[in-house]
Amino acid sequence: MNIEPIQNWLPGTSRPIIISGPCGAESEEQMLKTAAGLKKLNAVTVFRSGIWKPRTRPNSFEGVGSIGLKWLQEVKAGFGFLTAVEVANAQHVDEALNAKVDILWIGARTTVNPFSVQEIADALQGINVPVMVKNPIHADLQLWIGALERLNLAGVEKLVAVHRGFFASTQPGIHSNPGIHGNIDSAITKDHTTSFNYRNPPHWELPIELKTIFPQLPIICDPSHICGSRELLLKVSQKALDLNFEGLMIESHYNPALAKSDKNQQLTPEELRELLNSLIVRTAGSTSEEFTNKLESLRKSVDEIDKELIECLARRMELIEQIGIYKQENNITVLQLERWLEILQTRTSWAEAKSIDKEFIQKLYKLLHKESIRLQTEVMNERIEKS
Ligand code: PEP
Ligand code: MN
Repeated sequence: MNIEPIQNWLPGTSRPIIISGPCGAESEEQMLKTAAGLKKLNAVTVFRSGIWKPRTRPNSFEGVGSIGLKWLQEVKAGFGFLTAVEVANAQHVDEALNAKVDILWIGARTTVNPFSVQEIADALQGINVPVMVKNPIHADLQLWIGALERLNLAGVEKLVAVHRGFFASTQPGIHSNPGIHGNIDSAITKDHTTSFNYRNPPHWELPIELKTIFPQLPIICDPSHICGSRELLLKVSQKALDLNFEGLMIESHYNPALAKSDKNQQLTPEELRELLNSLIVRTAGSTSEEFTNKLESLRKSVDEIDKELIECLARRMELIEQIGIYKQENNITVLQLERWLEILQTRTSWAEAKSIDKEFIQKLYKLLHKESIRLQTEVMNERIEKS
């Protein structure tokens, strides 16, 4: 993909770029009051607001529609923000561009649909307006990439990916019986250090993979839709910065209690100021020789340990194969549930004694166990074929 560096088209903004504004435009008063509050922070570059709101169920607040474009223009003229709005079809694109909206974004419910994304891309053919593409609702990296590519093929080079978390198959507050190993869904959904249920669990590995494939693509985190409530907004924002995301999109409302959508996750401008003041912005690299040398030496030690780890894993796999052969000779099943439960339990407590995170070690052992079963099944099948 040909991607224009964000610094070229958002000049003068330092990391993190802050995008804020209400989930949805509700009234002229709400837009102007929120914008006035945000202006005081002297930290917000882009004012966002949905005017066409895709809602899960009908009869929810579906946005004010085109009248909201006029309010966005007032916000731009009155406070000097760049403006951003969500578009879901070609008509939205035309109306937003006619109203001189600076940045468009594609919502999570639209990114999942290649027909809709293509319709938007066609409407943008040859118009190099910045477009932010939210991740699709479900954790499918290819769909996210596909949407970015469709736009890029239409000539949109001012592209930004927005990480807003992914659908949780266990919804907050609804828990099934955890069972012996714990409920896998709730393990994914929960921030296990605080038992917080994310509205849309972040699955950080997906934006990291996106960044690995397209290092030049700026990624902005939307902690509001990840968290679903004001709780943990700071923690998620800090994590995004520590992962070197370009910026944050955080919903705000002059009085969140009155919001017609996403009221639990919106901050007042003053609360946003507090959050931003609490963030620690770290740099991605350092020119200090002392720092570089120390980091280099620590990394060498990590390399050594990783070599040992691989050696250990190879020895473990060898033993697993021997066990597979032995089981086959004695006509014993691959899966031995009691042994597996014992492994899980003992390794968890060994790890905990070494202050290694319990969830991490369990995930690791589930992976190892899956590979052991695969290896043993393969060994058994090979021996059966030969005999
Ligand atoms: C929004 O930004 O208000 C919104 C609808 O977000 P998403 O598409 O991420 O659900
Ligand atoms: Mn919202």
